[in-house]
Amino acid sequence: MKTKTGIFFAVMLCLCNGLSAQHIEYNAHFTEKALRLNMYHGGTATEEFFSLKNMIQEPVYAGPHQTISPFLHGRYVIKMKSAGGKTIFSKAFNTLFEEWQDTELVNEGKRIFQESRFLPFPKEKVHIEIFQRDEALNLQKCWEKDFDPGSDWYQTDYADEYEFELIYGKDNPAEQLDIAIVAEGYTEEQMDGFENDAHKFAKYVMKTPPFDEFDDVIAFRIVKAVSPESGCDLPGEGIWKQTVADAQFYTFGSERYLTTIAYHKLANVTAAVPHDQIVVLVNSEKYGGGGVFNHFSVVSAGNILSLRVFMHEFGHAFGGLADEYYTSSTAYVNHPDVKYEPIEPNVTTLADFHAKWEDMIHDTVPVPTPDTEKYKDVTGAFEGARYLPKAMYRPSRSCMMKSIDAEFCPVCQRILSGMVMYYGTCMD
Ligand SMILES: [Zn+2]
Repeated sequence: MKTKTGIFFAVMLCLCNGLSAQHIEYNAHFTEKALRLNMYHGGTATEEFFSLKNMIQEPVYAGPHQTISPFLHGRYVIKMKSAGGKTIFSKAFNTLFEEWQDTELVNEGKRIFQESRFLPFPKEKVHIEIFQRDEALNLQKCWEKDFDPGSDWYQTDYADEYEFELIYGKDNPAEQLDIAIVAEGYTEEQMDGFENDAHKFAKYVMKTPPFDEFDDVIAFRIVKAVSPESGCDLPGEGIWKQTVADAQFYTFGSERYLTTIAYHKLANVTAAVPHDQIVVLVNSEKYGGGGVFNHFSVVSAGNILSLRVFMHEFGHAFGGLADEYYTSSTAYVNHPDVKYEPIEPNVTTLADFHAKWEDMIHDTVPVPTPDTEKYKDVTGAFEGARYLPKAMYRPSRSCMMKSIDAEFCPVCQRILSGMVMYYGTCMD
């Protein structure tokens, strides 16, 4: 308890101080609604592009009114600038496209993915930009567009409206973390089962550290999206189902990797639902899941390990955390250059350890830290992380991001706590 409280105040001080210089007067720039950009993101091994499909006005922008995120540890960053050139919004994200680029499938040529970006709806003309990071993590502009709410065309209604319900927390989207749990592969008759499953997941998040400390700033809503058929796609087994979000196992050839590539369909399902994070709860007992930073979490509901798998995937999707494991097989064959720091905050090459969690290491703990019993409960820098056994380091011997039977390590907890506080009221 002592440690956790220490982490809590350290994060709060650090983030509140950092944010004070970038205060944005929300009401001067934005309405309470959201602007959704439905994008295509594609390319080859060496090139990529973003392309706009269409724009939609959604009824509620659920993100914090402090619209400059201090958490830009994503491979991509989207920014909005006012007519005067002032940055009034920024948020980081990761994508399935960049994951595909790291697999052998990239040798097949070109591929394109669907993504949606959710922004506060501007009152006046703005300039929107997307940046990608190069290997040294510098931001390079890769897409831009002017948006004028007075003259641009954007859709203001959407066909796929489903019943949704607040099942935990308050109806106060601007001042809390809003998680929307979408039913996937549940038929009309199975909707009671979905409600039970969703309650189980929400309760589990709220008793998992560090989320258990933030009872008053996290809300869950469930979206009762009815699928024509039960279950989900199993491409490796020739099984295909008609479902709301087209969730599928075998992503990039990995049986347990459960995702959806029908993102625009999914975004239509949540269009009227206040959300900062979308969780797709798949009606399946098969082991698996997937999580991409500020994109989605997808998890099967009925496996004995589902709740633990979900927490791990939520670590990716909400926290932008890296996998801390390095021995399990994955589809990824390309890895970051260890000359540079990786973008994720919970792994390091020690190239710039000061920017990571050096401040959390006790004087008596050596860096790198020997992977021995003596250091089993301390924060250090243990070799082996992010699919690499050498030259990549993780903060603890065990962590939820390494193995789903462990709790989040103190470094991951500090990051997650900071993010919840950003979405909560602390930073207004
Ligand atoms: Zn960790």
